[in-house]
Amino acid sequence: MSSRPESRIETLAVHSGERRPGPEGSVVFPIYQGTVYSVDEGTDYHDIKYLRLNSTPSQVYLHGKLAALEGGEAAVATASGMAAITTSLHSVLRAGDHILVGNTLYGGTHDFFTHHATDNGWTYTFVDPHDPASWEAAATPDTKAIYVETITNPLMRVGRLAEIAAFARRAGLVSIIDNTFASPVNFRPPAVGFDLSVHSATKYLNGHSDLVAGAVIGSAERVDAVRKTLNHYGGSLDAHAGFLLARGLKTLALRVKAQNANAQALATMLAAHPKVAAVNYPGLPDHPDRAHSGELLDGFGGMLSVRPVGGAAAAERLCQTVELPYYAPSLGGVESLITVPAKSSHAGMSPADRAAAGVTDDLVRISCGIENPDDLVDDFARALDKIGA
Ligand code: PLP
Repeated sequence: MSSRPESRIETLAVHSGERRPGPEGSVVFPIYQGTVYSVDEGTDYHDIKYLRLNSTPSQVYLHGKLAALEGGEAAVATASGMAAITTSLHSVLRAGDHILVGNTLYGGTHDFFTHHATDNGWTYTFVDPHDPASWEAAATPDTKAIYVETITNPLMRVGRLAEIAAFARRAGLVSIIDNTFASPVNFRPPAVGFDLSVHSATKYLNGHSDLVAGAVIGSAERVDAVRKTLNHYGGSLDAHAGFLLARGLKTLALRVKAQNANAQALATMLAAHPKVAAVNYPGLPDHPDRAHSGELLDGFGGMLSVRPVGGAAAAERLCQTVELPYYAPSLGGVESLITVPAKSSHAGMSPADRAAAGVTDDLVRISCGIENPDDLVDDFARALDKIGA
């Protein structure tokens, strides 16, 4: 047992879950590419070491690292963020069950509920994560779970997360939160009382825009149920992608802190710029969730959105005129990205639904990378000057 005092997130990112010494003395945990390992007589099906059963040495190593980073008892990696989300839901819900769902969701999750919940015999009600009365009012005797996101896309709202976890506990519901946008550096759901935290590890956890993966973190009992469900549905993570993800995790704290700082600097400049009509970033003093998100989060994240003066045409020109960010969806990588959600993540929604959700055609979403903050700020200031309005 180590005599070290409890580690902070930067140290955890490097050292948690590591074997000391590693196999053959290796400092870097190797890729166990093998699909199957010899088995002892009488081994339980779920304990057979087999890649699809999420039990091989590289997978077990990655699970330990993910759990420690977010302060969960256990974790399981999945083939994508959507696999993490859908497998978690399948581990909790049975036909006839009802779930409360936050009314602002990642588009893929929204589409999953609207296209597939009924096929599974589930019913759902969208609720406002800011309005506790709506959760109580929407719960029925069949309600089994509540599902929300830490920081919503693309308006960067932060719901009453501590109250949601407490409500779920009181009402006997399983609480599930998509913590992708915050990452464990800025928010650790188990500490607030969430039962399961899900991630698109494609984003901040890996951080290099070069793999697709997911993660589920929580209590040993809940994660065991998720892993067994995953074993049946088959969405396991390949060993090589898992190796890259574990490598990315080691720099998570450094990257996310730089991304927080870049987003804060950019949001502050944009909020004061005469060619900007609105900026959405929880770290700004006038953001509607600034007060309670300041208590919940250790950092406000690397994502912001902005409405340039001049409508949809100005938004498109801004995206085309900045030089550092790539014009691409997704988020959380070391390179800045810029996109118009109405044309990308939210393109599948009807214009009326988009308008109701505040996803206007002139809204530009920015995922800050780890470039120098002054370079990023200068790039946007130059672009705003050029686009006119
Ligand atoms: N959750 C959030 C908040 C996301 O932004 C995404 C993808 O953009 C997902 C889940 C789905 O992740 P993946 O693309 O890894 O399946």
